[in-house]
Amino acid sequence: MASGAPTRTTCPYCGVGCGVVATPQEDGSVAIRGDENHPANLGRLCSKGAALGETLSLDDRLLYPEIEGHRTGWDKALDLVARRFMETMAEYGPEAVAIYGSGQLLTEDYYVANKLMKGFIGAANIDTNSRLCMASSVAGHIRAFGSDTVPGTYEDLEEADLVVLVGSNMTWCHPVLFQRLLAARERRGTRIVVIDPRRTVTAEAADLHLAIAPNSDVALFAGLLDHLDRMGFRDAEYVERHTSGLDDALAAAQDCGFPRALEATRLPAEKLREFYTLWSRSERVVTAYSQGVNQSVVGTDKVNAIINCHLFTGRIGRPGMGPFSLTGQPNAMGGREVGGLANMLTAHLDINSASHRELVRSFWNSPGLATRPGLKAVDLFRAVGEGRIKAIWIMGTNPADSLPDADAIQKALRACPFVVVSDVTRTDTTRHAHVLLPAAAWAEKSGTVTNSERRISRQRSFLKAPGEARPDWRIICDVAARMGFAEAFDFQSPAEIFREHAALSGVANGGSRDFDIAACAELTGSAYDTLAPFQWPRRQGAPLDNTTTRFFAEGGFYTPDQRGRFVPTPVTEQAVSPDFPLILNTGRIRDQWHTMTRTAKTPRLMSHYAESFCEIHPEDAEDSGIEPATLARIVSPQGTAVVRALVTERQRKGSIFVPMHWTDQQTAQGRIGAAVLPAVDPVSGQPGLKSSGARIEPF
Ligand code: SF4
Repeated sequence: MASGAPTRTTCPYCGVGCGVVATPQEDGSVAIRGDENHPANLGRLCSKGAALGETLSLDDRLLYPEIEGHRTGWDKALDLVARRFMETMAEYGPEAVAIYGSGQLLTEDYYVANKLMKGFIGAANIDTNSRLCMASSVAGHIRAFGSDTVPGTYEDLEEADLVVLVGSNMTWCHPVLFQRLLAARERRGTRIVVIDPRRTVTAEAADLHLAIAPNSDVALFAGLLDHLDRMGFRDAEYVERHTSGLDDALAAAQDCGFPRALEATRLPAEKLREFYTLWSRSERVVTAYSQGVNQSVVGTDKVNAIINCHLFTGRIGRPGMGPFSLTGQPNAMGGREVGGLANMLTAHLDINSASHRELVRSFWNSPGLATRPGLKAVDLFRAVGEGRIKAIWIMGTNPADSLPDADAIQKALRACPFVVVSDVTRTDTTRHAHVLLPAAAWAEKSGTVTNSERRISRQRSFLKAPGEARPDWRIICDVAARMGFAEAFDFQSPAEIFREHAALSGVANGGSRDFDIAACAELTGSAYDTLAPFQWPRRQGAPLDNTTTRFFAEGGFYTPDQRGRFVPTPVTEQAVSPDFPLILNTGRIRDQWHTMTRTAKTPRLMSHYAESFCEIHPEDAEDSGIEPATLARIVSPQGTAVVRALVTERQRKGSIFVPMHWTDQQTAQGRIGAAVLPAVDPVSGQPGLKSSGARIEPF
């Protein structure tokens, strides 16, 4: 076989959204390199991206549709899905049906899944694993800005004098962006502060590491707001002209103050003072945050406590300034744009607004749009377990391992009358499928994704899908057609879907809201094929070039009065049970992704950590009778997992850290999701994946 032409596409892992050039080789392998023309990475790749060519084997691939574990044809499988969904709707109503999707889906897949569920099934029970990743940022943005808007760009991290990384092990989780930050530090001497209970590799590279007590971020930033006020750092003109609600937020901040921040964070006073002084005196400051902020039962308050400080100082939307949410997944942002969460409507419209619902209903010509928000991920699977949801379609994700209280998820799926799973490989979730649909994988499908800085990039196929695998958008449209909605889902290519998505964003927003890509509504097929990465918004007539876009430097928020809102963030404390005295923190490691269905295929990536582990402070290990490098059992009120003890002072006393990746498929009893509590943030519904009560004992 002759080697193929290079294809410019995007990496399917983290939210940095690096451009990748993939070139099929004569021997059947694929050469991978970073795309030097992509603005996100300018040719760089991290270990995961560089190893993409080694993950393309067909081992474990789903190649044919199956019904009850037996191979079948597409027609039979799709007919059955459509029939069972319609029967369920007829007997129990539309809210008895659900879709659970993934930040791995492309925007076009997401768009048709959301359209089918909200517009044509007529209920909003569509949620995704982005609920585990970004929901608190979304909720915090909407509370403060009136819209789910990331104000800045990656360039801001390079133009800042101070970059504060909160709850982010950026070196491992957003590696290429961290490389950009380090290069900027070389050039301009950027100061880097890391706020993280663990001494991660990122913390070790920082100028200042604040090893705060878990979940004390609200107190830290409320204390900062109080400090900024007392020391005269208010941007009075910005606050006066562009914001509202300061008095209440300041009252809550004063209630916290330096003493309470000190007590809650348990930092040495001089370190806390140093941080407050540094933040106050650095005009160009970016506060970037990730899962240590979002994956918390007070995640939305953490987000708003950070945003409050930027609004107060007017440090937002200008070069080198602003709060910056680092998304975990490659297309968590694209999913938000199409409204692929249970509490959102497409194009950043509000499902609670009758006029917004009518706008979308008439654009789709739908028979009955959902009239209220649906169930968020944890509640959605609880409803499956309680028999309120009787048919669920899971797309491109593995909730049987990755959701909190994972044993309960498996039990719920076992009891559910009808489970459809479309995916690429077999997982613990596919074991529960009545109908299994083989989906095209990263190298085989085309569409778009949006990264953390609102940059929409093309993902392009360069390999033929194996067996009978099909792209997700095609599968969803084929089911929709069989349910009687052929006209509304008569899409023949992802380009057609993207055009409709873009047109709806223009009609819906008319230049008055943040997400608007109406400039793409008339893209020809060839223009879509060659579409270069661009940042939204791109309103009607705007050029699709590489112009940088920022929000809110001059106000213009999407609240009814167009003012940015300060949100009071009272300080709360997490109770610790004597039976479960340790705080279990879960997260990513450098070389793995999610439940390892792809990254475990390459020995290179497995050599970083060969098995799951638990980082534990030496004193906690001694108190619990744990010897270094022995097997230990993590026990929580929810369940257990067995991992290798890694005794280290990097871990804060009183907390333990276990990677999220391993499942029982790779390590017997190593599935940490079983021990994670399903408590959620009351505003965002995001689970507190980093703060389950637990204990550890020798295995
Ligand atoms: Fe892929 Fe993220 Fe690595 Fe870039 S930084 S190559 S997007 S995993």
